[in-house]
Amino acid sequence: MSDTTTSAEPTAPAKRVLLAAPRGYCAGVDRAVVTVEKALDLYGPPVYVRKQIVHNKHVVTTLEKRGAIFVDETDEVPEGATVIFSAHGVAPSVHQEAQTRRLKTIDATCPLVTKVHREAKRFASDEFDILLIGHEGHEEVVGTSGEAPENITLVQGPEHVDEVEVRDPDKVVWLSQTTLSVDETMETVRRLRERFPNLQDPPSDDICYATQNRQLAVKQMAPKTDLMIVVGSRNSSNSVRLVEVAIEHGARAGHLVDYADEIDESWLDGVATVGVTSGASVPEVLVRDVLDYLARRGYQDVEAVTAAEESLLFALPTDLRRDLKARDGAEATQVRHDAGSLR
Ligand code: SF4
Repeated sequence: MSDTTTSAEPTAPAKRVLLAAPRGYCAGVDRAVVTVEKALDLYGPPVYVRKQIVHNKHVVTTLEKRGAIFVDETDEVPEGATVIFSAHGVAPSVHQEAQTRRLKTIDATCPLVTKVHREAKRFASDEFDILLIGHEGHEEVVGTSGEAPENITLVQGPEHVDEVEVRDPDKVVWLSQTTLSVDETMETVRRLRERFPNLQDPPSDDICYATQNRQLAVKQMAPKTDLMIVVGSRNSSNSVRLVEVAIEHGARAGHLVDYADEIDESWLDGVATVGVTSGASVPEVLVRDVLDYLARRGYQDVEAVTAAEESLLFALPTDLRRDLKARDGAEATQVRHDAGSLR
């Protein structure tokens, strides 16, 4: 009688990629990047841009090569030249400075940031104390705060709630930066409401649809993911949040990379499932490079995880549309994902 028992080697789990959808460019970033591209085409280089048009290294260096000059403040722009304001928005004082220097301005502030500015102005004119949840020094927060500096107090997170002081606890509203963690912001609001039970909510979500959707996809993927790779730059708030959200929701590890060549081979040790996503300012070409990198290492099986469909598109800034229309006619004024675009 022969013994036919075989001792099977444990097989390694199959390597695969979960690819988030939506990921990458949001409507506000698309509009801002196309604004610079079309301005370069229309007015010719150089075109000045105050601050990084969007927080992405690749976008900024590519536009620099095409003739965009990024400056920190409008006083670095020669008098009479054209300056574009970035997607993150600017304080009213920046508009005034530009006017004083007779600059031609094109405002690429995302309309969803402009919405928060309008809310800040309205609540300030109604004499509310505005608790702005956001990160100190972020350009969007600086711009929004500039709308009503006397009325706005920055709240950087739940751990800072106890420090907040208001004039009238019954006349307080919270607003937020558009690119925060939804969960952490809700925790900040919960604690604020413990202190100020009559705290008012914003008229609609300030954390924008793109931030929310990208976080939602990551939350769905994270529990099945050994490693989450988020493509995005370190100064991109929404990209950094995606890594945090991944870890909070079960990914064993998470890393932010600008380019595929920043991936450390050792991150893949023992990894079966890699999650891949990208921040709202990231061109898709950079995600494709990461997928190629992973495919060369055996991660060829790519499965989409779709949390939401997006179709929002914003019209280009009014001044640019007017100039384009004068040159090309009405059809040139749409944001289009044309082949020459930085995507
Ligand atoms: S992340 Fe949201 S607020 Fe920011 S540019 Fe994109 S759509 Fe606008």
